[in-house]
Amino acid sequence: MTCYKLKMKNIIPVLLFSVFAAACAHTPTTPIARNLDSEIIHELKDGNIRFKSHQRINPRQDEKRVQELSTGQSPSTVVVSCSDSRVPPEMVFDQGLGDLFSVRTAGHALDSISIASIEYAVQHLGSKVIMIMGHTSCGAIKATVTSGKNPNSGSKNIDQLIKAIKPGIKTMNYSDSELVDAAKENVEASIAHLKSKSPLIREQIKQGKIKIVGALYYLKSGEIELW
Ligand SMILES: [Zn+2]
Repeated sequence: MTCYKLKMKNIIPVLLFSVFAAACAHTPTTPIARNLDSEIIHELKDGNIRFKSHQRINPRQDEKRVQELSTGQSPSTVVVSCSDSRVPPEMVFDQGLGDLFSVRTAGHALDSISIASIEYAVQHLGSKVIMIMGHTSCGAIKATVTSGKNPNSGSKNIDQLIKAIKPGIKTMNYSDSELVDAAKENVEASIAHLKSKSPLIREQIKQGKIKIVGALYYLKSGEIELW
């Protein structure tokens, strides 16, 4: 009897562990997606640290990667950023081919075509993070804060861009040459605009399948602030 009790004493923890392990193996997708978000953001932060300390490793850019991607892609992150030549997402995050799905417009202004591009990445490529990234000393923001009531840039299209950016910017602080606060407000405005115009993105956020993060790239330091 004692021997039986001892044996059961040893077996029960093993059984409990097996049940726990089996349960973990079948964890629903939402918590995994949440953990994945953190891992993705951590990886991007690490990449930016390498970039700003001049220790880029240029990952996943070899022939093997080229071949892997020839049959498909699954970029972890959609980076919505300014077209500015000084802020290429793959370089400032030290990422490789197939890692980032980039949507770039001046001042990361969003229209229906660029929102469709973001939706495509989320719905068909499985991207888990949408990052809206502004930058300091942004020309599109400078043009906006100096435009006066009625923009008259000499181009109807640029006037339209200024009109799209203007409502989101409250800080018309000309003394800040880098326009940091205005750039952050512009990021927040793009996040709000994306959510308001895309039921698909709203639903994915509600279900915990994706996360939207704001970011600001500092031209002088190469550092990216995330929030
Ligand atoms: Zn810009």
